[in-house]
Amino acid sequence: MTTSGRTPFSFADPARHLWLPYTQMQTAPAPLPVVAMDGVRLTLADGRVLIDGVANWWTAAHGAAHPHIVAAIQTQAATLPHVMLGGLVHEQALTLARRLAGMLPGDLDHVFLVDSGSVAVEVALKMALQYWIRKGVPERRRFLAFRHGYHGDTAGAMAVTDPDEGMHALFKDHLVPQVFTDVPRGGEAHATFDAFLDAHKSEVAAVIIEPLVQGAGGMRFHDPADLAAIAASAKRHGALLICDEIFTGFARTGALFAVNEANVVPDILCLGKALTGGVVSLAATVARAPVFEAFLSDQPTHALMHGPTYMGNAIACAAANASLDLFEREPRLAQVKAIEAQLMAELSPLKSLPGVVEVRVKGAIGVVELERTANAGALRQRFVAKGVWLRPFGNIIYLTPALTIAPDDLTTLTSAIARVVAAGDKDSGISTEVGA
Ligand SMILES: *Cc1c(COP(=O)(O)O)cnc(C)c1O
Repeated sequence: MTTSGRTPFSFADPARHLWLPYTQMQTAPAPLPVVAMDGVRLTLADGRVLIDGVANWWTAAHGAAHPHIVAAIQTQAATLPHVMLGGLVHEQALTLARRLAGMLPGDLDHVFLVDSGSVAVEVALKMALQYWIRKGVPERRRFLAFRHGYHGDTAGAMAVTDPDEGMHALFKDHLVPQVFTDVPRGGEAHATFDAFLDAHKSEVAAVIIEPLVQGAGGMRFHDPADLAAIAASAKRHGALLICDEIFTGFARTGALFAVNEANVVPDILCLGKALTGGVVSLAATVARAPVFEAFLSDQPTHALMHGPTYMGNAIACAAANASLDLFEREPRLAQVKAIEAQLMAELSPLKSLPGVVEVRVKGAIGVVELERTANAGALRQRFVAKGVWLRPFGNIIYLTPALTIAPDDLTTLTSAIARVVAAGDKDSGISTEVGA
């Protein structure tokens, strides 16, 4: 540490002080320093420009640094950057809650704002547990979750993430054990799932699922009919349904929210990632009226027992409101349809390449599944050499571009994948990163 003031800014030795996520700091290639982002283009310190195929981890729905969002943040920062929500409120949070309630289906009307997606999941779990305590059924305290699911990196969220395949296997013995099963695909599996939930119903507080697309756990899709069957079983056996739309929300899968495609109204829904258009961290846990009402009483201890210091930060809420303006004003759903068609057309031919198991597309998500686990670090370097930024993981190469991406930029991304996959896996050795 230097003793006098700041050392000049440098990317020269990033590994020394900045500890990177899911990264083996001894062997990982040096991270690429970014000096500017505009739309889908990121500019590196050495002047190279890359096309971002993953929209900053699926957050930058309108492209990076959209001027409407940047302006909203600047105005908010200059006037009222933060207000503690303990006894005080502010216009941006009130407006955001009202708008989200209006956009979401059914009586998903009660919005609890938090700092990150993982915390939104924690709050959803606590909400469900406290709901059953309020209902006088405290033995309903487990969660039924799905293999290949991913719900975040904090303790409660880790416990409902796939315990074996996921990123948290190391911590398995330190987490509250939950109940896991496969996402039921098709009629016969629906009946099996229903029987499974029936057998566990006395202990299950809620079923938690990423609706239609399991993201970081492998970019796996299921049908709206599967989600509808899960929702029907949860209802039949009295369990709450939590839909984690942190990845799928805001048009990523082709509908504004994935639950809309199945006409499902979960009891609790989590939002994050694209909520602010990828500019600042903010997430939300939204409850249906009957969940909210279970907390109403004359007893202070019956209140929802959660409250992050920075919850409902005004700058973050201003960014989210500006992002919602863009969803209202600009044709995002039509853009997703066009992206979907283009991904189908340009990725489908890869099915015939050796080493490719499957190509799947849903909304603005394109997935090339390889036969073998790839060397993610080496693959990434080859993509960078072709002018694109992608983050393959496991045996998955995926695209989740900004919804505003131009067709020729999308073609640059798909053809980079085609060329890299066609060249085959010429590298060996272990991957140095495991995160999505
Ligand atoms: C990213 C993600 C989370 C965690 O959100 P963070 O903001 O990284 O804490 C939870 N659930 C899903 C489905 C996600 O994709």
